[in-house]
Amino acid sequence: MDNPNKSPRKIVVIGAGISGLSCAYRINQLAEKTGLKIEISVLEASPRAGGKIITDRSGGILTEGGPDSFLTLKPEAENLVKELGLEKDLIPANQKLSRVWINDKNKLYPLPKGTGLIPSKIIPFLFSNLLSFSGRLRVIAEPWVSPKLGDEDESLASFISRRMGPEFLQKIADPILSGIYAAPSEQISLLSTFPHLREMEKRGGIFQSLSKSKPGKIVFATLKDGLSSLSNALAQNLPGKALKRDSPVLAIQREHRGWAVKTSRENFLADSVILAVPANSASLLCADFSPEISSALSEIPFTSSVVVNLVYSRKSVKHSLKGYGFVSVQNGSSLMAATFSSSKFPHRSNSDKALIRVFFREKSPSGEELISKNEDEIAKIAHQELAPVLGLRAIPEEFRVYKWMKAHPVYCVGHGLRMKRIESCLKDLPGIFLAGSSYYGIGLPDCIRSGQKAAEESVQFLKNRHNKNPYVLQSMEASPSCSPTRN
Ligand SMILES: Cc1cc2nc3c(=O)[nH]c(=O)nc-3n(C[C@H](O)[C@H](O)[C@H](O)COP(=O)(O)OP(=O)(O)OC[C@H]3O[C@@H](n4cnc5c(N)ncnc54)[C@H](O)[C@@H]3O)c2cc1C
Repeated sequence: MDNPNKSPRKIVVIGAGISGLSCAYRINQLAEKTGLKIEISVLEASPRAGGKIITDRSGGILTEGGPDSFLTLKPEAENLVKELGLEKDLIPANQKLSRVWINDKNKLYPLPKGTGLIPSKIIPFLFSNLLSFSGRLRVIAEPWVSPKLGDEDESLASFISRRMGPEFLQKIADPILSGIYAAPSEQISLLSTFPHLREMEKRGGIFQSLSKSKPGKIVFATLKDGLSSLSNALAQNLPGKALKRDSPVLAIQREHRGWAVKTSRENFLADSVILAVPANSASLLCADFSPEISSALSEIPFTSSVVVNLVYSRKSVKHSLKGYGFVSVQNGSSLMAATFSSSKFPHRSNSDKALIRVFFREKSPSGEELISKNEDEIAKIAHQELAPVLGLRAIPEEFRVYKWMKAHPVYCVGHGLRMKRIESCLKDLPGIFLAGSSYYGIGLPDCIRSGQKAAEESVQFLKNRHNKNPYVLQSMEASPSCSPTRN
């Protein structure tokens, strides 16, 4: 009889963004730890690994086109950085300039100390002139607002307006949320993004709960040579030929012994397939074998955005740039937020430069499309929008534009129920797993966690399957079609 440990099990990971790379890296670790022979193939559509992570280091200036930094409050990204030996390159955001500003009609107001989505310190908030006097009184009346009963989901806009009042929503919470989710807070699910706020509400109000708990310090971090050093390190730590670039997956079909994954170059037979691609791509790939999951995945909406990195001579910027940047109150423009990159991460440019990263929604509230314009036009608009806010006295010396078409998954009200439907469909698809930002968190640490979880589930699936019926796997091993085949 064949020794089942001689021929490897095959796992195909689709997508080499941070989720797919973290997944493949963990599978490799698990294989080494358990002694299970696993052959991994990571199939990536584009010529490069990293997905939305794009670092540009040209001209002595470091810019990020996609994610800019990660939160250390969720430990997965920092832990992975350390595991990969990149700890020496870890750079926390400049703590001396951690202020965030609110841009209301081109005037910048400092966000009071201790205020984020919810003010955790009342005294600085009371003395801030960001909200009207009645708006501030409404916020401190929060403990007397009766809690909403039941477990039904609601939008973040509804929750915040109910508890803190509409002015707090409009001038503070909504700008912050748009900067994170690139979607209006009226659409975003409370239970899929900040479920602990509902729990706090039930325990006597948010302020009361915050006064009893010790909220962790929000620290952003990045890497000296940019976030792509994390994705590159993951890619380099995969076994030899595991990563296959320029390999868009065209279809997945169910075979009686596993799954057939088709790319334009090669076909792969796999025991398990992990779809580490956004839900809209996953939906297309699942259509052949499960119209139900394909339909549930297609219901997750996506929004678009545009990121522009602008380099100015420091002398030409009147504003102190003391802070991480600003978020904008909705006022008819598409400008959502700006990061003062040269203040938040001073190593990214020389001190005589001001590096500013601007984040736009795809359209202005009046419907004017930004994303369809060319890069020069977009950079011009970015400069025109920034000029009155920061007192710019000269045009940028350089700019880099990144268009993000349907790149931001929106966790709409009811996202949790949709996820339950998706999970239930997965139960009928043995060996298929999902990972990525479309499901349980959009930040880099969330994506890493989702990739690692999918890796663990996939390896566990292979182990269980082998324990239940070793002959199934042995017969797969005997089949020549298990190896990648040329079309
Ligand atoms: C502008 C912007 C700013 C952001 N800022 C931050 C930030 O500062 N901090 C933070 O934590 N997060 C941030 N995020 C979110 C974070 O970057 C993403 O959630 C994360 O990078 C998604 O990783 P992923 O691997 O799940 O998906 P992706 O990075 O989208 O990777 C998916 C990969 O799958 C490939 N693919 C798709 N279809 C196929 C197919 N059929 N066959 C083969 N390959 C396929 C794609 O080419 C891609 O490489 C930001 C996102 C954007 C867009």
